[in-house]
Amino acid sequence: MTNGKKPPIPFPPQQQQPPKIAVDPENVRPKVCLRCASPFFIQVVTVGTVSEIMSPTGQELIVPGKALVCVNCNTPIGEENKSGRVN
Ligand SMILES: [Zn+2]
Repeated sequence: MTNGKKPPIPFPPQQQQPPKIAVDPENVRPKVCLRCASPFFIQVVTVGTVSEIMSPTGQELIVPGKALVCVNCNTPIGEENKSGRVN
């Protein structure tokens, strides 16, 4: 017994890319790791959670994010000057 209609699949809304801002290359300064001065970074995925109390679904939510870490010492960008340990 099918009526030819599939139940709607709840896709998460597509995230829209923010419009790219034109930047004068002369204004671009290379970012280097403040710990080891390496100019190379890789993009990694961070994961946050929303507790079931705060979640709209009533279940714990996994919220992915993005971060850049130094390829040499794995220090996340922007965290180099924090005095805490970085692992
Ligand atoms: Zn580094």
